Amino acid sequence: MEGRADLHIHTTYSDGALSAREIILRAREAGLSAISITDHDHTGALDEAILLGSELGVDVIPGVELSVTVRDQDVHILGYFFDHHNPRLLDYLAHFRTERIKRARRIVEKLNDLNLPLPFDAVLDRAGHGSVGRPHIANALVETGLTESYYEAFLKYIGSGKPAYEKKFQISPREAIELVAYAGGLSFIAHPGNCISDELLFELLNEGIDGIEVVHPSHTPDRILYYRGIASEYFLLTSGGSDFHGGRKNGLDVLGKYSVPEDHVTMMRRRLR
Ligand code: AMP
Ligand code: ZN
Ligand code: FE
Ligand code: FE
Repeated sequence: MEGRADLHIHTTYSDGALSAREIILRAREAGLSAISITDHDHTGALDEAILLGSELGVDVIPGVELSVTVRDQDVHILGYFFDHHNPRLLDYLAHFRTERIKRARRIVEKLNDLNLPLPFDAVLDRAGHGSVGRPHIANALVETGLTESYYEAFLKYIGSGKPAYEKKFQISPREAIELVAYAGGLSFIAHPGNCISDELLFELLNEGIDGIEVVHPSHTPDRILYYRGIASEYFLLTSGGSDFHGGRKNGLDVLGKYSVPEDHVTMMRRRLR
């Protein structure tokens, strides 16, 4: 029987709750034959995951999730199969992470101005060795009792367009695609069902994107068919996964619940040659 692949997973190296080791163990438990770890702006989990995966029979594909900006809109790009020791890529990622820390500080300053006395250190503690993101801020707000829930934090304060929102460091889709390609990898549009218009989708295709993430918890069966159709029409690759962060979303966030047949990975490998 053909194996299944979950190609969108976060660890403690970004805003996920589990370590690389825990992810591999769960992947094996879930019967997955391949996974990709795709932390935001971080490749820190990959060496350990690849090593342990090879011992336990889980094929671990290098991955990363980058953020780009198009006309003020935040778009996510998944990179796969790049050389995760490529110095230029690592330099860029380190820079993105430094910019994330500065942005988190700006967000906390805005929260403080809104009479939410969240200490910046509470956010850094939450992020640990991972790249800092708004989920850490949301969790820190809940932990200090300043908001009732994770979602309330986004809804009232740090979601896009809310009073404590701050933009991320901006690079264009082309820059991200070129960076991943320079390191020998392939770029995919992440979860396009999450507010990417057709116009923007085709713009990204013109920038040289290699594939579309068709399977994602935010995609209805109709959306999946729609993106598969576009991918096949334009000779694009397809990927998919659970966007697992460690059980955050009560039931929705389950490792391997959203996956693609392993032949998707074979197709990617073929395109690399
Ligand atoms: P950042 O990379 O710091 O901009 O944080 C983005 C992450 O925050 C996303 O990957 C989601 O996991 C989470 N997120 C963004 N918007 C929301 C929202 N409205 N509600 C809940 N989580 C969100
Ligand atoms: Zn995330
Ligand atoms: Fe994303
Ligand atoms: Fe993600």
